[in-house]
Amino acid sequence: MAIEQRVLVIDDDKINLKILGDILRDEINVMVATSGTQGIRKAIDYQTDLILLDVLMPDMDGFETMNQLSRNSKTSSIPVIFITALDDSRNEEKALLMGACDYIQKPLNASIVKARVRLHLQLVKQRKMLEELAHIDPLTSIANRRKYQDTMVDVWQSAVHKHGCLSLLIIDIDNFKHYNDCYGHATGDSVLKKVADVLSDKIDSLGLVARYGGEEFVALLPDISTEEAQEIAKWCQQSIEGLHLSYQHDNFNGDITVSIGGATVFPTPNCQPDIVFNEVDERLRDAKNSGKNKVLWVEKSTMNTAV
Ligand SMILES: [Mg+2]
Repeated sequence: MAIEQRVLVIDDDKINLKILGDILRDEINVMVATSGTQGIRKAIDYQTDLILLDVLMPDMDGFETMNQLSRNSKTSSIPVIFITALDDSRNEEKALLMGACDYIQKPLNASIVKARVRLHLQLVKQRKMLEELAHIDPLTSIANRRKYQDTMVDVWQSAVHKHGCLSLLIIDIDNFKHYNDCYGHATGDSVLKKVADVLSDKIDSLGLVARYGGEEFVALLPDISTEEAQEIAKWCQQSIEGLHLSYQHDNFNGDITVSIGGATVFPTPNCQPDIVFNEVDERLRDAKNSGKNKVLWVEKSTMNTAV
């Protein structure tokens, strides 16, 4: 078991907590809670990887605790193993039907508890790896469109809540089709990787950069003002031109460049991220139609005036 993984044991009996702690502590990080309420709070605050849950507890029993964990989006994906002295297959069935991943009966057998916890932590690790892979663009190794969309929802809600701003850039490589036609897709792919590296170096510490599709990238910059975001956009544009990825096509002889559309908005509950995206996309098209290799900004978003 990896030591960085955390298991939360919820049991009203302190002797049981000590026994389980002693069984598991040499291999994993064990946190304890002596009631359902305390356990739910710790699961939310620490985002533990696994929960061992006692069934019989005063006030809130294990089933009610499980019920509340399942209904909370911050804890619903944490697997729960029920631990109880109840020798009752109906309770076992009830726990499993409620979504428990396993059920261990007391008296506890140390090696069985360890083996089951180890197995479920391994499954958690594999699930997290798959989730991570599902959010990565395999060619450039930066985030993909799905990750951008998920992150946008979170960032948008957070900005609404804090009355904060966020900036959005859409970055598109100019004449990329010509480049691919001239040099082939393998060389085109190497350009995508180099552009992604430049964007990632600059933006990773400030927000999220993702490959939206084809030769188009998006940068999501929470709490970044118009002036800062415009500077970042300019820097990206100049740095990519500065790579001097030169090519010739028909009468053109020059370096790979990008066009960028951008906006800074203060999200409101009644507006959707798509509105801003479409406005930025329109500015990107304007940039493409007016000579390329430039940054154009949404001067006055329809959703608010804070640009
Ligand atoms: Mg108990």
